[in-house]
Amino acid sequence: MDRTIYLDHAATTPVDPRVVEAMLPYFTESYGNPSAVYRLGQHSHEALIIAREQVATVLNARADEIIFTGCGSESDNLALRGVFFAYRHKGNHIITCSIEHPAIINTCRQLAEVFGAEITTLPVDGHGRVDPTAVEAAITPRTVLVSIMYANNEVGTIEPIADIGRIAHEHGVLFHTDAVQAGGQLPLNVDALNVDLLSLSAHKFYGPKGVGMLYLRRGTHLLPTLTGGGQERGFRSGTENVPYIVGLATALTLAYQDRQAKNRKLIAMRDRLIQGVLSSIADAHLTGHPTERLPNSASFCFDGVPADALLVNLDLAGIAASSGSACHAGSFEPSSVLTAMGIPRERALGALRLTLGNDNQPQDIDYVLNVLPGIIARLRHG
Ligand code: PLP
Repeated sequence: MDRTIYLDHAATTPVDPRVVEAMLPYFTESYGNPSAVYRLGQHSHEALIIAREQVATVLNARADEIIFTGCGSESDNLALRGVFFAYRHKGNHIITCSIEHPAIINTCRQLAEVFGAEITTLPVDGHGRVDPTAVEAAITPRTVLVSIMYANNEVGTIEPIADIGRIAHEHGVLFHTDAVQAGGQLPLNVDALNVDLLSLSAHKFYGPKGVGMLYLRRGTHLLPTLTGGGQERGFRSGTENVPYIVGLATALTLAYQDRQAKNRKLIAMRDRLIQGVLSSIADAHLTGHPTERLPNSASFCFDGVPADALLVNLDLAGIAASSGSACHAGSFEPSSVLTAMGIPRERALGALRLTLGNDNQPQDIDYVLNVLPGIIARLRHG
């Protein structure tokens, strides 16, 4: 192996060189504070205007509905806390689901424990899907927000968010979606998706880490969680990170330029990988939805295989992958996403997530299918 086959694009992606090139001038040449009156500041200000318009174009939104943030987690925090505190007069109830990212789950937990929020955590089915009728049944007169992710980060399942958003709106309730994993792969037309708030993070679509954005539909109230000089229309104070915002906007624009062609290539590789794994390895199980899944996402459980040893062996073979398990104080716990889907604990301990990217080639899939069965057999039989 003379190179790493990188199959962890759901964790992060390499920055596209064209994105780096677009960012560079804003570090050393056009470094002015966008709030300054002199021309150097105005150059930065103009870069922000262009970036905001580029993002709005991809989302079919208006430029003044885009709030730049420091990451996807911050966008989720701002959406949940911001709506909860702005709509306290109306109610304290938030509806979410059991397989959300910790940025949602832990924010809901804190809102409940410290601020008296009432949280309904909806279950998912065996494929990781939320039932829109369960959302409807959970809505009460005190519900202020429904937050359901667009696509899951561990199993790639795509949620029926347009239906969920429609139902929320029929009941006069706001709808937020964490689209961090969907960004770059799935359509982001905010009107078609029936969303009022939508979170993205640049490092999932070949942009830099440490910059995100929140779409906020015009007329929706939000109490800022970061107060100060009033940047981002008062919703997110702090001097704007111009190079990174330019990076996010450039990466998002590039991702949506030939999205369908890229997705076709990803889907072909993904499906060959899934079929190859399931047909060559006994007691291998696909996790997540068989068809309603992200173009780049293949995820499995292997009975009797410890995920930590599997990842180490794959790394030794030159393959960078991940599992859903989290290491807590030295002992491996199964992923809460997998157990919420009804996968037994023992099976969930053998989870593997392979997420493809634009840099992968069909021969990468050949290589994985070549080495994975042998690694699994060794781990099962010593
Ligand atoms: N939401 C989802 C679904 C994610 O997968 C991630 C990152 O893995 C995040 C939120 C957090 O994004 P960030 O790393 O930019 O904070």
